[in-house]
Amino acid sequence: METTQSRLRDTLNELARERRLRQLNKTVTEPFRPMITLNGQPVLDFCNNDYLGLSHHPALIKASAEALEKYGTGTGGARLIGGTLDLHTQLETKIAQFKQTEAALVFNSGYQANVGVLSGLIHRNDVTFADRLNHASLVDGALLSRSRLVRYPHLDMVALKTALEKTDRATRKFIVTDTIFSMDGDQAPLTELFALAEQFDAWFILDEAHATGIFGNTHRSGLWETTQLGPQQRVIQIGTFSKALGSFGAYVAASQDVIDSLIQFSRSFVYSTSLPPAVIAANLAALELIQTNPTFTQQLWENIHYFHQCLADREISLPIQGPIIPLIIGETDKTLHETQRLLELGFYVQGIRPPTVPEGTSRLRITLTAKHTPQQISELVQALKLSKPV
Ligand SMILES: *Cc1c(COP(=O)(O)O)cnc(C)c1O
Repeated sequence: METTQSRLRDTLNELARERRLRQLNKTVTEPFRPMITLNGQPVLDFCNNDYLGLSHHPALIKASAEALEKYGTGTGGARLIGGTLDLHTQLETKIAQFKQTEAALVFNSGYQANVGVLSGLIHRNDVTFADRLNHASLVDGALLSRSRLVRYPHLDMVALKTALEKTDRATRKFIVTDTIFSMDGDQAPLTELFALAEQFDAWFILDEAHATGIFGNTHRSGLWETTQLGPQQRVIQIGTFSKALGSFGAYVAASQDVIDSLIQFSRSFVYSTSLPPAVIAANLAALELIQTNPTFTQQLWENIHYFHQCLADREISLPIQGPIIPLIIGETDKTLHETQRLLELGFYVQGIRPPTVPEGTSRLRITLTAKHTPQQISELVQALKLSKPV
């Protein structure tokens, strides 16, 4: 036991030396976004994923409180053992309408959805083709499936095509990608990816965690909507309620056969207590809001454009991709130093380091929300140390 203990300590010490030790040393006490109280200090939050500011919207709070009163705090069971409330069914119907798919299924979190969908549908003799920068939960799901995992270089369609060509035609194939990459903020080329999926008869699994509620002119259902390819049998769309929708939980939208299969084989769905009614009711209210009222999404996009305009005033031009803006610094030390300097100026922008991002690409990850004011955005850009990208 003693050596086991000291080995843990050695590992932790080594992480600390490398400035990689993750710590829960920032506590929020007043989350009135975008202003928050962090460790007792009021700061502007520029790293939150509550992109539309819905986590404090009265409609969500009211729906949530009513459900809490009516149904209590917990469901007391997994979905297949008494844990399916009428609210869960209503939410799934609404998601399928939102996504224009045959069916939908609610998962307890984005992490659980990704692990459950990939491990539930992909088998040992299949091949999973995954973008190198996919979210950790997609990597974990692929590993759990025990399929052969091919991680192609970020957005590299030529490498993906080559890998697909090298795979036996009869082998089942799955192409898996974030639509908006969580740490880079850039977009996957969905039309090209789908064309490859068609050409090689592959399934196509999309993680819309950072795109749901933000992209798509009619439903604001995600980046897939912008392709105008509509529902497709081979496409499986995953997304979360925990980001732009201001709540918690996740969904999968797909054909009825895919959803029915997940109910059989997705262990993170089957073996976990269902989400509590207060959460499901907030999700229903959030979907209703963003579909009937485009102003939240419009406000977010105005802020994104304004941020880039402020950058342009400082002669920096970055491609406009979405609400996540990575400023790559490289060295971990410098990145942490920059986070600290900004905190002292009243801006909270979390630095992101390996292993969350590849070695040598530590960065500030700025997120914009509909709640930031132009003044706050311009003050942040003023405070940043910027050098022109080389
Ligand atoms: C945040 C995130 C998840 C996990 O979603 P949770 O609901 O927070 O568990 C999955 N995929 C991507 C791309 C994410 O950014």
